[in-house]
Amino acid sequence: MKMIVRAPAKLNLGLDSPFVHPDGSIEWRMVMTSIGLVDYVQVETIQSSAIKIRSDAGFLPNDRRNLAYQAAKLFLNLTHIKAGIIISIEKHIPVAAGLGGGSSDAAAVLRALNEMFQTGLSQKQLAMLGLQVDSDVPYCIYGRTALVEGRGEIVTPLKKLPKMWFVLAKPNVSVSTPRIIRRMVHTKIDHPNIDALLSGIQNDHYSQIVNNMGNALESITIANHPQISTIKERLLKYGADGSVMSGSGPTVFGICPNETRARRVFNSISGFCSEVYLTQPECSMD
Ligand code: ATP
Repeated sequence: MKMIVRAPAKLNLGLDSPFVHPDGSIEWRMVMTSIGLVDYVQVETIQSSAIKIRSDAGFLPNDRRNLAYQAAKLFLNLTHIKAGIIISIEKHIPVAAGLGGGSSDAAAVLRALNEMFQTGLSQKQLAMLGLQVDSDVPYCIYGRTALVEGRGEIVTPLKKLPKMWFVLAKPNVSVSTPRIIRRMVHTKIDHPNIDALLSGIQNDHYSQIVNNMGNALESITIANHPQISTIKERLLKYGADGSVMSGSGPTVFGICPNETRARRVFNSISGFCSEVYLTQPECSMD
């Protein structure tokens, strides 16, 4: 048996953390959307009991540290299926960029295995399984614009976004998500207005969405990587209506209402930042 699934990157239009649980885990309140920047994950059964990972990105771990491996292991344990599988990842989403690539690969593996073995797990069951891998995996199981709360497991799908384009710019720095989160616990953060962002989406109101995008982690990451702030400013200067960091960074995205404007911003920022992408929201799992 063999199956190839799309694993889209996500953007955080809004990211807030209302509080930290006594066990140190974070309570999230995030608005996420999937975009047309996509990994392709092939899952194939083999005659052995091993889980093998192959990827074209040499720097990715090909063992149990790979989130796709962890997802497969959890799935096979839960369902008591004794099968060997080989997972081949064609990587297009930049790694450790705040775009949830590893989580999306893990969710793709769970969806593929559920389909291939006809195990009939619901999206909610897959999401709870995925939560054991990473807090972004439950969202990636649904893969459409959603409000994500709790530790990542409460996913409420939202209306399709109005027409918009994103220009992504990733500075050449590495950000450790756990380190940013540790720092967040001891820092006073700016809370974006997630409710206003939600009503912008509910009302199909592009400007209301743009004006209420925000990320509580931004100032923490920027303190170490001031170039993120410069990229934000440049995206606005080149014509984006808003610009925000995604996840714990370092990728920043600018938002535009049409392709012509987005292309202009893309061309201008390309002269300043080496890794840039032009993309739109996608609802690949609809
Ligand atoms: P998050 O914000 O959820 O931490 P991210 O989008 O910033 O994620 P990822 O690309 O998911 O970053 O990678 C985070 C870490 O996970 C990296 O250190 C990477 O080596 C590891 N990783 C494990 N499996 C994968 C995978 N399949 N794809 C990408 N990274 C992976």
